[in-house]
Amino acid sequence: MPEAMPPAPATPPFPAATDIVVIGGGIVGAAAALALARRRLRVVLVEKDRIAGQQSGRNWGFVRSQYRDPAELPLAVEALTLWSDFAREFGAAIGWRRTGCLFLAEDEAELARFRRWQEDCRAVAPDARILSPDAVRRLVPGLRRPGAGALHTPSDGQAEPALATAALAQAAATAGAVILEGCGAIAIERQGGRVAAVRTERGTIACEGVVCAAGAASHRFLAALGLRLPQQVVRSTVSLTTPLPAIADPCFCGFGLGLRQRADGSCIIAPDSRSDVDLTLDSLRGARFFLPELMRMRRSFALRLGRAFVDDLALRLTARADRRMVEPRRPAIPANERLVAESLRRLQDLFPGAAGARIARSWAGRIDVLPDALPVIDAPAEVPGLVVATGFSGHGFGLAPSAGRHAAALAAGEAPGAAIRPFRLDRFARGTHGRPHAPL
Ligand SMILES: Cc1cc2nc3c(=O)[nH]c(=O)nc-3n(C[C@H](O)[C@H](O)[C@H](O)COP(=O)(O)OP(=O)(O)OC[C@H]3O[C@@H](n4cnc5c(N)ncnc54)[C@H](O)[C@@H]3O)c2cc1C
Repeated sequence: MPEAMPPAPATPPFPAATDIVVIGGGIVGAAAALALARRRLRVVLVEKDRIAGQQSGRNWGFVRSQYRDPAELPLAVEALTLWSDFAREFGAAIGWRRTGCLFLAEDEAELARFRRWQEDCRAVAPDARILSPDAVRRLVPGLRRPGAGALHTPSDGQAEPALATAALAQAAATAGAVILEGCGAIAIERQGGRVAAVRTERGTIACEGVVCAAGAASHRFLAALGLRLPQQVVRSTVSLTTPLPAIADPCFCGFGLGLRQRADGSCIIAPDSRSDVDLTLDSLRGARFFLPELMRMRRSFALRLGRAFVDDLALRLTARADRRMVEPRRPAIPANERLVAESLRRLQDLFPGAAGARIARSWAGRIDVLPDALPVIDAPAEVPGLVVATGFSGHGFGLAPSAGRHAAALAAGEAPGAAIRPFRLDRFARGTHGRPHAPL
């Protein structure tokens, strides 16, 4: 695991019935459970492994509105307010700091794209601004080359992924939610078409509704209900350096490097927009949605046929369908050592102050992606009682507080708020989805 995880809470008794079951103990499920419990609904969150064991504990920790798809911007702005509220409530434990976010433009063409976004989104993201190279130097004095300028949003921030997710789950438990770790969901059961129960490894929980926030596994639950979600997975490598002198206050992307300097001076670094795709038979799912983008962005993805393919095949041949809903429970997700070395080289090339940096730890996470790189947050009419909150496509950590809140509102029977109307599931079946705003 990337971080030392907080100790697991004592296992609560297994409940036979509840109002809402949340499947998945990532940050989206935790935020939904918190919002549901605060609405005084009875809620049970089931997580097959540990809270924050997957993407939510492995990500960079950027919390940004900057350069979001305009469709996502209202949700991102709402989330920033909620992050501040959480920071007031949970204190330093979640590592929230409003340090801003800065995307460096390598050339005039990239700066023009940033400027267009900034002008188009001014009404929703009023503090996003374009910086000249001199202004970049003043803001990040340790940077060797300021490029052609930058897009900068001072109101963006950062948080510590595993700690923030655990804090939300703990707050949900304090508000009355039952959090069951090591308890995989196997099936969503229906009566008369409506959601009636969730079958888990430990027994069945009767319920009025389900929030499916199972990250990269969500498509399996939906497929069993006859709903198609073209969801795929990419593997993304991250490293943590030894503590360094102050080199960059804002969350930073530029010249192929993603960087977040934490409060203790250590830096999260990663190659920006470079991922591995571990091919399995599942890679064929939704291929027609993904192939055009994969071809266009082929230099960003390395296709790998290896261990993942063999492990997946072995599981398909040997495990019962029930087991396949929860296995592999704690998948081995190897870091790409070449990308680790490359990100350290880029860091040292861009920031002379990082000359003495060493890699303290590296890891990788499996990012679940949808064809337009936008999430699904929806209560599909075909399955009354079901809410889906998934497919955050590499940028759901920052959105989670508002995404969870909207998912909870849907589960409580409210009509979808304006901020989530672009995120309907049926956009793929109808063919009304667009192309990703930024590289997948
Ligand atoms: C390397 C990396 C860098 C990223 N950087 C950023 C960033 O800087 N900013 C940002 O906003 N986002 C970032 N992201 C994306 C962000 O981490 C995700 O969008 C977000 O964490 C998704 O949360 P989630 O709760 O949907 O999924 P997850 O965190 O994956 O949680 C889903 C949970 O469901 C559980 N589950 C699966 N199957 C079952 C089952 N059968 N029963 C019970 N539980 C089940 C899993 O074990 C898992 O814990 C990054 C992701 C990665 C991997």
